[in-house]
Amino acid sequence: MHSRRDFLQKLTASAITLPFLPKATSLDEFYSKPYDGPVLRVAIMGLGGYGTRVAEAMQSSKMAKLVGVISGTPSKIKDWQSKYKIPEKNCYNYENFDQIKNNADIDAVYVITPNALHHDQVIRVAKAGKHVICEKPMAINAKEGQEMVDACKKANVKLLVGYRMHFEPHTLEIVRMRKAGELGKITFFQGLSGFKIGDPSQWRMNKQLAGGGSMMDIGIYAINGSRYMVGEEPIWVTAQETKTDPQKFKEGVDETITFQLGFPGGAVASCLSSYNINNLDRFFLTGDNGFAELFPATGYGPIKGRTHKGELNQPIVTHQTVQMDEMAAIILQGKQPIVPVDGEEGLKDLKIIDAIYAAVKSGKKENLKL
Ligand code: NAD
Repeated sequence: MHSRRDFLQKLTASAITLPFLPKATSLDEFYSKPYDGPVLRVAIMGLGGYGTRVAEAMQSSKMAKLVGVISGTPSKIKDWQSKYKIPEKNCYNYENFDQIKNNADIDAVYVITPNALHHDQVIRVAKAGKHVICEKPMAINAKEGQEMVDACKKANVKLLVGYRMHFEPHTLEIVRMRKAGELGKITFFQGLSGFKIGDPSQWRMNKQLAGGGSMMDIGIYAINGSRYMVGEEPIWVTAQETKTDPQKFKEGVDETITFQLGFPGGAVASCLSSYNINNLDRFFLTGDNGFAELFPATGYGPIKGRTHKGELNQPIVTHQTVQMDEMAAIILQGKQPIVPVDGEEGLKDLKIIDAIYAAVKSGKKENLKL
């Protein structure tokens, strides 16, 4: 016999594991019903830490399925083949992956390699005629980002950026409230993004591979968040860098940057990006009639938050499961996401990063045209 306690436990467990999609999309029904519609067949390029997380999460996606891998490490390919039942013909390395163009069983490649490699790899995938999902930052500067957008347009393939927070329920509730005018005129956003980075020999600490330091890796969350939280594109930026450990954080690898953004409606954002401060994962948005706070704001979860109306109690989801289903719907069905995730969106963040680095150097306000 089932007790009420058992039932509640089951309910809680299902709420935690059942991915949620916003009601407006009517896809919330999607997870509770059997699915036999189109499926995006995905190959992951770069079988590292985040690639592994995406692959695990995609096992619960309904519209996206992992069918292929691209890696420079044969032993990893073997492990993934047996874990995910990936046939030999869907396995590539960094030399031969252009051949994916002849593989009718792969629709899209998810590029999850170090930042500086994204540019060439995305362009090669586009030339092979496959849709591309690329991890953030999309590239290491706006010039490269523009070339990627152009290459994907030319090849007539979609380019999406792995902005998982754009599908996260607490985040989307604040976006909904702001759009509905519940916060009134938006006046201020604060974005704090950072953590203390460990091993100095990792690629994230190498300018050649990372393209920069904390800003490229984690500060981008505050940049991107300021845009979807305020709901406007910034028109200027100022920025200041502090470096307490120049031995660890070499030339071109930023340790900590504070930056400010100005928006056309008069709102300002004050943000912090750091590789040397822990517990930095907080967004705060305020307007004339109310406020919203997320803390943690962009970690893998659970995301928590409150507004002037009280605690947010949206469902807790596995971000990458929902992201992959939503991205499959964008690619296969032309679905319009609430917050864009396309190459143009990634490019805007790169333009802001370029301007932040320029402002650090010049010490002046840099104007932005997004
Ligand atoms: P990682 O070091 O764990 O994995 C990188 C993978 O790339 C490894 O498998 C490595 O073997 C491979 N690789 C291929 N060529 C390489 C080269 N020349 N040098 C070094 N490695 C090479 O890194 P990660 O944490 O998986 O990050 C990969 C990308 O994913 C980055 O762009 C990062 O910003 C992004 N990322 C996004 C999120 C997110 O939440 N959206 C989280 C973590 C990482």
